[in-house]
Amino acid sequence: MAKGTVVLAVDRCKGCGLCTHVCPQNILVLSKDTFNAKGYHPVSVTDPEQCIGCASCARICPDVVFTVYRQVKTTVKPTVVEMATV
Ligand code: SF4
Ligand code: SF4
Repeated sequence: MAKGTVVLAVDRCKGCGLCTHVCPQNILVLSKDTFNAKGYHPVSVTDPEQCIGCASCARICPDVVFTVYRQVKTTVKPTVVEMATV
């Protein structure tokens, strides 16, 4: 499974909770103990290691809080080199 990383612009969050319903890993929650600059309980990530980089959160968020990075696996094909024969 792909590995992702999310970066949050927490002060843009208005605490609507939409993202918490679409995350397939259930790792997004609204922080009950903190407030952001707008006075809302902002979203936070409970277990960043579980993020798969699906970007569902970024697509649904109306306030562009998420930037999602996704690891891409690359495969390097072996190169066959013809050697000169004497
Ligand atoms: S990228 Fe996907 S798995 Fe990661 S936090 Fe967003 S919705 Fe959840
Ligand atoms: S969808 Fe966006 S604005 Fe709404 S709680 Fe999630 S991060 Fe905050």
